[in-house]
Amino acid sequence: RAKSAGKAQFARYSDELQQQAQRQLELQSALAQASARGELRLVYQPICQLDGNQPQLIGVEALLRWQHQGRDISPLEFIPCLEESGEILAVGDWVLQQACSQVRSWQLNGQPQLRCSVNLSSRQLQQSDFAARVADILRHSGLPPSSLVLEITESQLMADSAQNLACLRELASLGIQLALDDFGTGYSSLGYLKRFPLHIIKVDKSFIAGAPQDGESLAISRAIIGLGHSLGLAVVAEGVEKQAQLDFLGGEGCHYAQGYWFSRPRAPHELQRLLNGEDCFDGLWCPLPAEGV
Ligand code: C2E
Ligand code: MG
Ligand code: MG
Ligand code: MG
Repeated sequence: RAKSAGKAQFARYSDELQQQAQRQLELQSALAQASARGELRLVYQPICQLDGNQPQLIGVEALLRWQHQGRDISPLEFIPCLEESGEILAVGDWVLQQACSQVRSWQLNGQPQLRCSVNLSSRQLQQSDFAARVADILRHSGLPPSSLVLEITESQLMADSAQNLACLRELASLGIQLALDDFGTGYSSLGYLKRFPLHIIKVDKSFIAGAPQDGESLAISRAIIGLGHSLGLAVVAEGVEKQAQLDFLGGEGCHYAQGYWFSRPRAPHELQRLLNGEDCFDGLWCPLPAEGV
């Protein structure tokens, strides 16, 4: 009986694998035409500074969206396809161009200090001319290098650390800020914090989700924030959804936060309304963006 149960389970498993592979192929061929069809767009999620009485909007993270056959596919599903096919290089350039010009236009319209965060894949860092392309994009958009934050996850950094390191050094020497995304979830090696020229760590939302009621999540978040402080890195908490999490983070001296409590990622015109003071955060506040940060 055990044997036949095992067989059935294996059949189910390989069925699932086959379906996954099929889905991947379908997405890949649909994606090949997505940008030509105008199906890709960016949304922007506020990042807030916590010190002071009221959180203040100091930057936005650009997040890629793909609307395929009328519905949004998660980047967790389609980014790996773009990486696999190599299209992430062209799409990644497009994301950078779009985000830098958008944030530059917000800067010129009354938010001179607004920062622009963009996610990178390691495939992009593996291009030997990547830093030069980013410099070009900055020049074209007029965005100051110090207003750009490039985010990369630990697992992406692992991929080819010598080339990644060289590229990150070049980017940092342009004056761009570098953030380690989803910190604590990869094959976390604290060595990365020393080896790579980082300015910011982002505490993964899975730790914030459990805090402050779950003791382990709380301990891990607290330790990461402390580590950031000791190393002179700015710490951003991701996935803040509740006032209690914000209170906890404030108490730990975490200076920046991002999450649905403030705002979901928004289309540019919706973010514009927030900047104009015509709309509130999704949580409690009607923020005035920070001045002179
Ligand atoms: P990420 O860079 O860690 O981005 C944060 C993710 O958390 C976003 O998911 C955001 O919508 C979500 N999020 C924000 N606040 C909350 C919250 O309070 N609760 C919860 N549960 N989630 C929250 P999204 O947009 O689905 O993106 C997923 C991942 O896809 C990103 O994670 C990033 O790694 C990747 N990604 C997105 N856009 C790009 C891109 O342009 N290029 C590359 N290479 N990767 C991208
Ligand atoms: Mg990110
Ligand atoms: Mg993240
Ligand atoms: Mg993430």
